[in-house]
Amino acid sequence: MNRVLIVDDETEVLEALSSNLMRRGYSVNTAPNAEAGIAKTKTERFDVALVDIKLPGMDGIMLLEQIKKIDAEMEVVMITGHASVESVKLCMQKGAYDYIEKPLDTNRIAVVIEKALEKRQLTTTVALHEISKAIFSTIEMDELLKIIVDLAMKVLQADDCSIMLFDENNKLYIAFSHGLDEEIKKSTRLAIGEKIAGWVAETKQPIILINGLTNDPRFAGITGRENIKSAIVNPLLKNDKILGILAVSRKQIEENFNKADLYKATVFASLVSLALDNANLYKNIQKLRNELILVNKSLENKEKNALAMVAQLRAAHEELKANQYQLLQSAKLSALGRLVSDMAHEVNNPLMIISGNAQLSLMEEISSETVKNNLKVIFEESQHAKDILQRLLKFARPSKDQVKDVDINKSIESVAILLGHQFNLSNVQIIRSYADDLPHISIDECQMHEVFMNLLNNARDAMPGGGVITITTGIEGDYLKIDFCDTGCGMSEENMKKIFEPFFTTKEKGTGLGLSVSYGIVKVHNGELKLKSIPDKGTTATIYLPLKRS
Ligand code: ADP
Ligand code: MG
Repeated sequence: MNRVLIVDDETEVLEALSSNLMRRGYSVNTAPNAEAGIAKTKTERFDVALVDIKLPGMDGIMLLEQIKKIDAEMEVVMITGHASVESVKLCMQKGAYDYIEKPLDTNRIAVVIEKALEKRQLTTTVALHEISKAIFSTIEMDELLKIIVDLAMKVLQADDCSIMLFDENNKLYIAFSHGLDEEIKKSTRLAIGEKIAGWVAETKQPIILINGLTNDPRFAGITGRENIKSAIVNPLLKNDKILGILAVSRKQIEENFNKADLYKATVFASLVSLALDNANLYKNIQKLRNELILVNKSLENKEKNALAMVAQLRAAHEELKANQYQLLQSAKLSALGRLVSDMAHEVNNPLMIISGNAQLSLMEEISSETVKNNLKVIFEESQHAKDILQRLLKFARPSKDQVKDVDINKSIESVAILLGHQFNLSNVQIIRSYADDLPHISIDECQMHEVFMNLLNNARDAMPGGGVITITTGIEGDYLKIDFCDTGCGMSEENMKKIFEPFFTTKEKGTGLGLSVSYGIVKVHNGELKLKSIPDKGTTATIYLPLKRS
């Protein structure tokens, strides 16, 4: 439930407004002056605050400033009796979302609150993107742990945070923490299953503990942590393997963690897991490099050994690079998803009006050639923009809604037939090399068609003078493998680095979204999409899809 705080010194306003908002489904809290408002903001979390500009003692503008210091994400709407332009302007400069004038119109208030809530949600999405940038800014383990702990405390408004990792005996130890006693830090060693962290490591489930830890019967026997009011303990998982534990807790802040915090913590933990995995790989490389230096120094006759290590070092380095790239992609996808879908919806309506009007005007008698041409450009460009929007929406919402068992050869063939005539006209020949007896796999066929279509169209675009596309299907390990190999212009190494970035395109009318959308769809199916290319020779796009349901 969304939470609203109202700060006003007029009792009638407070009462009328809060009962109206409660009827509309909000959870409402009130304060008669700025000081009480600040105290409430410190102990509880609100989504929106309605603040009267004119308050006895500290005024509404100063309260606004204080609220923004305590919780920058809270949206503040000012209530004003004598809307002096100057004070309203000042409020907006200081971060107020909007203002409403007295006498209060409850319908307008409801609309302003809804808009403020929308903005708050968008801010959270953007914040997530910022967080992922901060977490992936370093690869040094010590630096990373500090960044994670600082961020976790800020993002989740906690006053204690620790990260636990596994030691050589597979026991959890506190790798970094804020707010914990040095003694506890040093002496803590937990086996899997032991105490709260051990329980989370065993079950791989996050937990939220409220009203004191000992309140939960599973952990009733634990002593020494009685001062904790509420806590969230998250497993750090990479491919279902447990890497460690991230725990945040509140001691001073009265307000318990809630479901929204748990969700935030889980998303945060998934980013942390990816970054930790990266830092681990990097640590291994460092170790190998150090060993390599030792070997080199002391032994000439162990050249072979050293060479093997170099090979290992290279392999680890490659893995690190690949891993990091994928990380960025998946972090980007999750954080941008909502933002993109919101924006796409916002832009769609004005665009429809523009293209509709241009089309209507074109039907009329127009004598000026320039005007006519301009209208044509407007119409064509709005069609192009509509194209981008459609793709953006797909990018934002790859879903697993319509998963069914599919014969992949048949599925590809239906797309190949659909595009066949067009490709013939462009002198592009499709050669089929389908493996027999492939097991059916469960996919969202509609979405996978989007991927096939993108890859085939890209191949065609790469061969303006015609050429050959070879589609090959087969099995590799636990995966079904599909190759789309073209004899087109290929790509430079420089461009290869950017192809999965949304909006990267080298085409005049390209959207630059085909590959990033395809990447997202294949990822949702727990698969991989990889491209290899040789300039002037051609490109092979390969899709790997897991044979077994996961
Ligand atoms: P778009 O097709 O709209 O440009 P994509 O995301 O599908 O967007 O592709 C991005 C870019 O990647 C293309 O503009 C092109 O430069 C390059 N590309 C993709 N597939 C191929 C291919 N098969 N051969 C050569 N270049 C390709
Ligand atoms: Mg494309």
